[in-house]
Amino acid sequence: MEKVNCLIIGSGPAGYTAAIYTSRANLFPVLYEGIQPGGQLTTTNEIENFPGYPNGVAGFQMMEDLKKQAARFGVDIRPGVATSCDLSQSPYKVTIDGKRQIETKVLIICTGATAKYLGIPDEVKYGGLGVSVCATCDGFFYRKKTVAIVGGGDSACEEAIYLAGLAGKVYMIVRKNHLRATKIMQERVLNHPKIEVLFNTNTLGLFGEKAVEGAYLVKHTGTAQEEKFDVAIDGFFLAIGHTPNSAIFKDYLELDETGYIKTQGRSTKTAIPGVFAAGDVADPHYRQAITAAGSGCIAAIEAERYLAGISC
Ligand code: NDP
Repeated sequence: MEKVNCLIIGSGPAGYTAAIYTSRANLFPVLYEGIQPGGQLTTTNEIENFPGYPNGVAGFQMMEDLKKQAARFGVDIRPGVATSCDLSQSPYKVTIDGKRQIETKVLIICTGATAKYLGIPDEVKYGGLGVSVCATCDGFFYRKKTVAIVGGGDSACEEAIYLAGLAGKVYMIVRKNHLRATKIMQERVLNHPKIEVLFNTNTLGLFGEKAVEGAYLVKHTGTAQEEKFDVAIDGFFLAIGHTPNSAIFKDYLELDETGYIKTQGRSTKTAIPGVFAAGDVADPHYRQAITAAGSGCIAAIEAERYLAGISC
């Protein structure tokens, strides 16, 4: 079994920031990249609100830059996914890819969150045949075509605008009578000539012979004005939020009702000394690249103090 000082799981802004700080503090961190190297931002189109990029930056570019910055300070960056753990006593054990065991004094969990699906069978039936959770990855296939995107948050708005730059028409399927997104994003969507927002609308299913050709929708479900209708579409995108990637820790750490790892107050400390959680896996509220990076920094400082025997 390999023994390390500081193990970081995850390669989003939290993981890389924790890596940069712990490396510069001579903790010799080992970072496993996880299922999606670079994290969710690699599938984000343009990031306009990360301080320091006055003209915005592509998500994958920012993550490449963070990786380079971590590598510059000697972080041992490895491909691999943490598949199980034993946090019953220190040093803590983490299994990578079901086979490789690592023992660590400090564990910083930055495993992020994964896109949610509606849970209708047609999403599975048409998986890879018109259903997607990543507009940036798959939008290209729908140039001049008609697509729908479900959701009313910032992600859905951002992706609807991105899709509208490629597709001929974008339906936005919003279950409430308003968008949850920030005002500026709402305005951009509502004023976009290629986007039609379908408020109070839910998806019943999808249809199509070999791939998605349309969606069965319902407006005002369960009311006197309930109305079922179809739209012809070539692609069906989902942007309805995320589930925190905390399942392998559930036997050891306290999670909230939606699976986010609970940390103590403003710190990244979990109930287990030497185990820290940073970024989206522990953040049901803010979920921004900048807040994730900030919490990765906090985790690194707390890890350093823990190893030095300093309480903070
Ligand atoms: P949100 O949780 O903010 O929004 C999810 C949206 O999906 C809501 O409109 C929600 O509807 C809808 N939804 C959820 N479940 C279903 C369902 N089963 N059927 C239909 N609709 C559903 O998630 P986001 O991913 O948009 O954003 C997460 C966080 O990241 C937010 O804090 C956001 O501000 C931030 N963000 C910031 C960006 C930026 O600053 N550039 C870009 C993207 C995200 P309802 O409103 O009815 O609950």
